[in-house]
Formats: sequence, structure tokens, C-alpha cells
Amino acid sequence: MMQYLFLLILASLLGTVHEAAGGPGTEAIAPSHDRPVAAGVAPGGFVAAPFPTEAPPGPVVVDGLPAGSAPNANLVTYLDISPSVVDISGTESVNIWVQTDGTVTSAEVEHFNGSTYPLTDYGGGLFGTTLSHDLALYNYAHTSYPNVNRFGYINLYQGSTQVLHGWLSVGVEDRQIPSVSVSSVASDMQATPHLVNLVWSFSDPSQIDQQAVAKRFYQVYGDDYDFLNIISTPSYFGNRYHYEVRNAVSGIGLSIFDNSADFGSSGQLLGITRFPIPVFYFDGAERTMSHETAHQWLQNLSQVSELQGVTPHWPVSELARSVLGYSTPGGQGLSFPWDLTPQGNGDYVMHYNPLADQYFQAMDMYLMGLAEANEVGTYAVFTDQSQSLCNGCTLSGPTVNVDVQDVIAQYGTRSPAYPNAKTHFRLANIIVSQSFLSAREMRYYDYFARRGEATIPIQGNYPWAVATWERSTISMGLGTECGDDSASTATDLLFFSHHTTPSPPRVGQNFSLTASASNWSSNTAHHITFFTEIPKGLEFVSAELNGSSTACYGDELIVCVRDTMQGWESVTLEITMRAAQAGSFEHRVGVSSCNYDWFPSDNDSSTTIRVEANKVFLPLVTKP
Ligand SMILES: [Zn+2]
Repeated sequence: MMQYLFLLILASLLGTVHEAAGGPGTEAIAPSHDRPVAAGVAPGGFVAAPFPTEAPPGPVVVDGLPAGSAPNANLVTYLDISPSVVDISGTESVNIWVQTDGTVTSAEVEHFNGSTYPLTDYGGGLFGTTLSHDLALYNYAHTSYPNVNRFGYINLYQGSTQVLHGWLSVGVEDRQIPSVSVSSVASDMQATPHLVNLVWSFSDPSQIDQQAVAKRFYQVYGDDYDFLNIISTPSYFGNRYHYEVRNAVSGIGLSIFDNSADFGSSGQLLGITRFPIPVFYFDGAERTMSHETAHQWLQNLSQVSELQGVTPHWPVSELARSVLGYSTPGGQGLSFPWDLTPQGNGDYVMHYNPLADQYFQAMDMYLMGLAEANEVGTYAVFTDQSQSLCNGCTLSGPTVNVDVQDVIAQYGTRSPAYPNAKTHFRLANIIVSQSFLSAREMRYYDYFARRGEATIPIQGNYPWAVATWERSTISMGLGTECGDDSASTATDLLFFSHHTTPSPPRVGQNFSLTASASNWSSNTAHHITFFTEIPKGLEFVSAELNGSSTACYGDELIVCVRDTMQGWESVTLEITMRAAQAGSFEHRVGVSSCNYDWFPSDNDSSTTIRVEANKVFLPLVTKP
């Protein structure tokens, strides 16, 4: 077996980089590309996307109530933007409907173009208007937040008093979104490979009967999923949230219970995450997706006195440097993107670190069953939890220390414990709507669901596999093609390699690189997905999977999907890029499979691509 492994490595090193012709010679050696340094980032952590160097103006809500919509979010029964996804090169207009509780007297769109557009009062608390395609796509730039356009606010008034000021966003389909087929599953159900659309009768999306939705899902699909994500359109102004359906884990502050039968599952379903807003607030790759899923195990340690009685997020402490973040006194989750530097007198100074809240820390990982107790350090917790937080702020002591023994003393050791606890999780994504979504909307939400499987950072997001130190994976695939839980521990092994560039391309040239994954067993592996993000400074030209250009899609984020991989088979990804500017660029490829014996760090690979500047020929200057 080892000999075969060696041959695979050797074969993968023999690949070639194809350079296009042209370009004069060069002498310049590009300076090393600066990467942000992540203090205290989890092992295996890496950086692929540029980050803002400025601290955000205030804490970011992790669970995600849209800015400005609190505290009067309950005035709105639903906000319907239809279609919720438009074609970037299309002409369709967008209808905006807002159903209020009857106390709202007027409504308007405050558009980012500086104009306001009043909504017509249709009586009964219903307001509506239509915006042109151009207004909905106003100022859309793929680089700001890809495939989402925020074009303004919805303002609601009681008399002359503004009572709500919430975002208006529309999904944008461009060539980044893959073409997936939509199948009719039942008279009330259609599906793509990573999304079920269930037609449901409801007037208030916050009151959708989630048990009934789950039961309907299980009438058609197998009891193969650990988590259900329930998304709805129309949306309502509410936080994303997670709740446990079943818990069999001891030592994490939760009792042992099983309510899965109430949801139509026979003991497989662990929990449900509710996404009230589909566009922008549902993205499998985004931190909140990981945050909500982790609430299955975090944080219920109310008896650990060092934590100052704070749940379900961490108190203001070194623990809060995590995807889980910290809790306000009301329990709302806020991000904590700060390093804490001790001052020697018991005080700490906060320094903005945009990576600090992108990974789970070791205490999280222990409670999630993804780290051993002896990997958990000691964390300082501030006894004064009401201090103001900002970049450069000083947090005053005293602090108390908490470590894993404090948790074990109250609740016993986690059981099952890492590495025997479950590390691969299957999620099913169900979008509930009043009528069938369009094929465009299905493609769009399928894409955002699938992003959760990525094993490399994509577009500034650190998906589950990355945030969990490459110790855990999630699958978003539906049906039996991903196998059940027992299949996830099958002996399939994907050995992954990524070619380095033997000679640097020059600015303006096209070049290719290849990466390959091999199924190092006789078993069939399923649902193989390659992910790669094209670094800024390079431009995507084309990609092929085993010579087929149709297997890949994307623009900056390239995703290539192979449904099955036979035993002993290798699959090669070839990406052609154009060197747009000189410099050194880190290129990363990741591969995921739901039927995958997980070998940390074998699932992704990076290589540095050096692009050399063209020689500049100065014109000869002749003295007159
Ligand atoms: Zn939360």
C-alpha cells in the first residue's frame, strides 16, 4: 500500500505548467506577497482572501438580525422580494411586498441612488411597489459581496416616526452560479442535488410548523441527516437560530434526550437551524452557518461559575475569540474579532484581528467532540461583563481563569470524546415557499448550500471544514448518493496533490496547473467536489476535470463536481489562469467528499505561483 501511495505522489509531481507564447524576457523577481498573520489561529489555518485592515465600527451580530430592523422587527409579518434572484443580464423587475401588523402608516424604499420610492398602501397592513431591474441591480459589483446586491433600505413609519430601517437585498445570478437540474419530487416538492423546495401554506413565515415540515421531508427522503436547515421565502426580520432535537452527548451541560420522533426521524436527526432570510443570510460557507450548527453542543455550561453565568455564547473573555463569539446580556451572539494583550496589571488591551472569530477555539472543539481535553488551554474571563468593546479599548481586570477541568468538574468528561466522536455530518437544506421557486432561484440556493462543503477558505469565508481545524466535514448532498453515516467511515482515501509551477509565467501569459485526487481503495467514493479560489492578480480562464470543460463552473471561485469515483481511480483538475500582474500568489485547491475517510491536511494543497514582470524596454534617447 505504501508503495502505491509513493507512486501517486511521484506521478503527481510530474505534471507540467503550460505557458502561452509571447512576452519579452524579464529580470525582475517579484517581492514576496504579504499575508496577514493570524495570531493564535487554529492549526491548519490559512489565509486565502484579502481582509479589511480597518476594524469594523462595532460588533457584528453573529446570529444575524438585519441591521436597523430591531427593535421593531415584529411589526413586519413578512417581507417578500420577488423574484428573490435576478439574472445579471436580464430585464425583470422586482416586486417588494411588506405585510405589517396594521400599525404602520407608510412605507418607502430608501434607495442607494439617493431617491426614495414610496410603497402603495393596499390596506390591511400590506404595502407594495415594483422596482426596475436596473434599480434592483444598482451599483452591483461582484467584488463587494458576490451574488448579492444590497440596493437600499425598507423604511416603515408610524405617522412621522420611523419605526424600522432594514436592508433590502436581491440575489444575483451570474456565471458563478452553476447550472444544476431541478427535479420534480412530488406535487409539493422539487429538488436540486443540495436543496429541497417545499411548497407550504403559511401567512406568517415565523410561525411555520417546523415539525410538520420535517415530517413531510422524511416522507420523501431517508432518515440520513444530522441537521436540517429550514430556510423560508418570503422572509421575516429575525435572527438565525438553532435548536437541539436530540442529544446523546454527556459532559457538555445538556441532558440526554431524543425528540426526533416529533420531527419524523427515528433517532438520526440532531438539530435544526432556521434561516429566516434566504438572500445573504443563507450561505453554507459563511461563519454563521458554522456558528448555528455548533450551537448543537455550545454553550450550556451555566454551572461553570468562572463563565459568569453567561450562555449560550461565551462571556467577554479569551474564549470569545471564536466562531461562537460572546453573548450580550440578552443572549444575542456577537463576534469578538479581537486579540487580548495582557498589560501585566490585570488589564488587557483589545487589538482587531479579523481571523480571531473565524475559527473555533480549543474549548469549542472539545465540547464539539473535535479536540481532546489536553488540547484545551486556560482562558481569562473578565468578572465585569459590561465593559465597552472596541479596537484599542482596555478591558479592566480582575479576570478569573477557566480551563477544561472546570467543565469536567461540573459535568464529567465529554462522552463520546475525540477522536471517537462523530466528525462527519450530513445536512439537508429545505427552502419553504408559498409556490415553487423558479429554476434560477433553485440554482442560486443550491449553490449557496453547496459552498458549505468547501475545504478551503472561499471569498473571505472560512467554511466548517476550515473553522474546525480540518477535523470535521459536512455534506450538503441529498439522497443516497452520499451514503449513510456508516458509509462516511468507509475506507475510501483521497490522496490529494497539487502541482507547483516549474517556471514562472510572465504578466499577460496564460498558464495552467493541475491537481489530482485519487481514490486509494477499492470502494466507490461519491460526490467529489474540488474547490479553488483564483487569487487576486490572477484571472480565471478555464478549468477542466479529466479533460471535460463542463464539469467545472465559476469565475473567482471554481467548483468542479464529480458524482462518483471508482476504486483506485484518479481525477485530475486542470486550471488555466492568466497572469494579470507580477507578484507571488498563493493558490489553493481543496477537495471534499461525503464518503471520505478523513485524513487531516490531505484534503487541500497550496502552491505559490510567482508571476514575473515583463522587461521594460526604454527607448534609446539620442543626444541632439
Ligand atoms: Zn448564536
